[in-house]
Amino acid sequence: MKPESIKTLDDVAKIPFTVKTDLRDNYPLGILAVPPHRLYCLHASSGTTGKPIVVAYTRRDLECWTRLMGRTFDVAGVRKGDIVQNMYGYGLFTGGLGFHYGARAVGATVVPSSVGNTKRQLMLMKDLRSTVAACTPSYMVYLCEASRAEGYSPRTDFVLKIGLFGAEPWSEEARKRIEDTFGLRAHDCFGMSELYGPGVAIECDQRNGLHVWGDEFLVETINPDTGEVLEPGSEGELVFTMLSREAMPLLRYRTRDLSRVFEEECACGRYHSRIQRIKGRSDDMLIIGGVNIFPSQVEHVLMNVRGLGDQYQIVVSHEELDRLAVKVEAPQGRLNDFELLKKVQTDLFATLGIRTRVELVEEGSLPRLEGKAKRVVDLRPKE
Ligand code: AMP
Ligand code: ZN
Repeated sequence: MKPESIKTLDDVAKIPFTVKTDLRDNYPLGILAVPPHRLYCLHASSGTTGKPIVVAYTRRDLECWTRLMGRTFDVAGVRKGDIVQNMYGYGLFTGGLGFHYGARAVGATVVPSSVGNTKRQLMLMKDLRSTVAACTPSYMVYLCEASRAEGYSPRTDFVLKIGLFGAEPWSEEARKRIEDTFGLRAHDCFGMSELYGPGVAIECDQRNGLHVWGDEFLVETINPDTGEVLEPGSEGELVFTMLSREAMPLLRYRTRDLSRVFEEECACGRYHSRIQRIKGRSDDMLIIGGVNIFPSQVEHVLMNVRGLGDQYQIVVSHEELDRLAVKVEAPQGRLNDFELLKKVQTDLFATLGIRTRVELVEEGSLPRLEGKAKRVVDLRPKE
């Protein structure tokens, strides 16, 4: 393809897709479109195996992302004077800093409390009179219970008005629970590291889909099996092309997220297309408390530990928060090998970035269906 080959919007469909493995195969920075000295910062997200994928930003990219995040906050009604408690993780994950930049862009006050430490989180929420909560929806659902358990009455002790929740799928039931508990208005935010981070799309007050910032992202839906472009309104995999990114201007990036695109003007008056809330994925990626996990990453770790059998099972459950357990077969003599267990646990933590409960089980005990292993058991309640 040459730039001259693209004359109309329809020509975009001729551009080959970019996929996550393109980023992984070019780890860490083989996919840069600018010389490395122009990079302003780097972030990373889970790849499909042991290595993460690295995403890069020039100064202009960072300014653009900040502006998009600012608009995202603005659409949700966040203003100067608001106090934003940012409970997304700060660090390589784009959530923490992305929401931080957004709060700064609208002139609100940001409290970078990051993830975890729930008691302190609730204390700050009350004492600093936070008006905006930004975190994963699963953490906010957890705070519903945790705040009562800590003796707070959420509607009177806290003054939250707005919630910015994303990074993982969540149900309308979860939304209702959060809103009823805290008396706030919850907005769904969508994004991904490869596309700057959060701030790709946000629900306006109509909450009939998430507006995609069309001046930066060209959005298409495709049939995930054939790659064929679908008409607006049909369900398919979202594909994004970035229009002004300098460091990593991804073309037709396949997200694996399933949704629909609506192009009609919204009742809020905005013309930015809307995507339906994400329905699921067309690959096997799991999102556990906002963290992306591929079963292949777990396999990669297990294959590299000596002394294990080769069958394993990943069990995802929900007890207050999402939990990840890995059962792996081991020979008789090693079932009580604490050192081995510890090693698996440490290596999984190093790769996945979240804690797992590891169990060594007898060889032959994990189910095999017609010879095929059932690798993932997801026990989380469906809506
Ligand atoms: P990350 O790159 O770690 O930010 O993860 C991006 C992925 O998180 C997306 O491809 C989606 O699968 C998921 N995700 C992000 N925001 C949402 C959301 N609002 N609803 C559902 N899934 C989401
Ligand atoms: Zn709207």
